[in-house]
Amino acid sequence: MILDIVTLNDQMLHSKSEEVKEIDTEIVKLVKDMYDTMELAKGVGLSAVQVGVLKRIFVTDVPQKGGKLVVINPVIKDLSEKRRVYEEGCLSIPGISGDIERPDTVVIEFLDIRGKLQRVHANSLLATCIQHEFDHLNGILFIDKLDPEIKLKKINEYRKQHRL
Ligand SMILES: [Zn+2]
Repeated sequence: MILDIVTLNDQMLHSKSEEVKEIDTEIVKLVKDMYDTMELAKGVGLSAVQVGVLKRIFVTDVPQKGGKLVVINPVIKDLSEKRRVYEEGCLSIPGISGDIERPDTVVIEFLDIRGKLQRVHANSLLATCIQHEFDHLNGILFIDKLDPEIKLKKINEYRKQHRL
């Protein structure tokens, strides 16, 4: 089932998501729907808050080895000192992108859809995607990482594009 994607004007995107207590059939269905929704929207990552559910879950589908992940209750264990810049976009802010600098690699622990603890060491685009989605769970958007002046410019650009 395709879900509606929450967009920038919704304050929900600034809310902190809650831990998943039990991976029940409702969560399994939500994750499947999130994949369908991400695929249709041609995204590489989607968090539950973006479909209106404040739970600490995100999915990724980055075109690189190991790039397809279901991530529940993630904990970031390590970030590299080396950083890199990627031009990021977000399904919740369609039409807008910005250069964001983040650590080049990330080590993350999380539960998979079977409730099994996983540890992934990610680099390049997957590392960026994981950090972008992890931020969503804490109510942070990629534009929040921009210089305040550039952020305002991007928000105005978004409003203009979408006639808000
Ligand atoms: Zn996003």
